[in-house]
Amino acid sequence: MAKVEPIRLHYNTLYLVEDGNERVLIDAGPDYVGAWTELQAALRGRTPDRVVATHGHHDHAGLGARWQAAGVPVTLGRADWRYTAESDEEIDAEHTLLAGVVEACGAPEAVVSDALAGLDRRMSSHKLARKSYPPAGNHPHWPTGLMYQRYEPSAPSEDGLVGAGLRVELLPGHTPGNCVVVHAAEGWLFSGDQLLPDITPTPGLQVDPDSPTHARFRSLPAFRASLATLRSESFSRCLPGHGEPFDTVAETIEANIAAIDSRTERVLEGLSVAGATSLYALCEQLYPRALRRRFWQIVPTVLGHLDVLVDEGRAVQNGDLWAPTGQ
Ligand SMILES: [Zn+2]
Repeated sequence: MAKVEPIRLHYNTLYLVEDGNERVLIDAGPDYVGAWTELQAALRGRTPDRVVATHGHHDHAGLGARWQAAGVPVTLGRADWRYTAESDEEIDAEHTLLAGVVEACGAPEAVVSDALAGLDRRMSSHKLARKSYPPAGNHPHWPTGLMYQRYEPSAPSEDGLVGAGLRVELLPGHTPGNCVVVHAAEGWLFSGDQLLPDITPTPGLQVDPDSPTHARFRSLPAFRASLATLRSESFSRCLPGHGEPFDTVAETIEANIAAIDSRTERVLEGLSVAGATSLYALCEQLYPRALRRRFWQIVPTVLGHLDVLVDEGRAVQNGDLWAPTGQ
């Protein structure tokens, strides 16, 4: 019988899994001031043999450097290693990619300069976080800003087995190297950010790790395909990276796929009304009131759905304009 214990570190939930003589911690944890001490207190000396980070985002993989210094190996999908290791030059390349999306989206000049200023702040805080705790800003989830020191994770083995009856399954989308962890004998799915109780995670803008020119990773088509993969498996319990475990796994997967699909249809409808349109004009049509305030959420989301429509052959991109196929 395997045992699992959830450990809350503010907004994130980590899981200590014990099976036989093996102990694995799922997610390294976020590195705010005091997080490492809190985590060690919760573990009460039960040091894991291995830590598996579901993906490279700072709230899931940020304490990896502390684990590594403590002699505990950290497993992370190879395509996410850039999060743990990227140099300032790579952060600059990401900055260039994101700025390129803003500049090409067709927004009025004032919106572009606002968005670029926000991006500058985010990227400098990103660099700062390599060495120290950045200011908390107005993020409600954390007691302080999150540090993210560089470290060297290891890749999951070919068969994905990581001990304690667990297997890592690579499911790109949320990030390029995203994975879930499965305990098949118990029917447990440790879903990280792939499947959450009340939220359909929105796609971010990220660099494709396989692209030498730092092109954009097409996140949403991959995320949806990963949900479809999970739909074909069967689980009795989902233990997500945020919030509480839940048993309605199949229903939640269905609801997430349906939410993505209905939003894709809305984007296509918007496109059909507008004809050839810029990304910003399409966003404005779909989210007229929220767009200014939630630029960094809405623009990547709509772009993700356009990626899906282009992949399905239902929309085409011409330069900086999108149109439904055949219009
Ligand atoms: Zn994430």
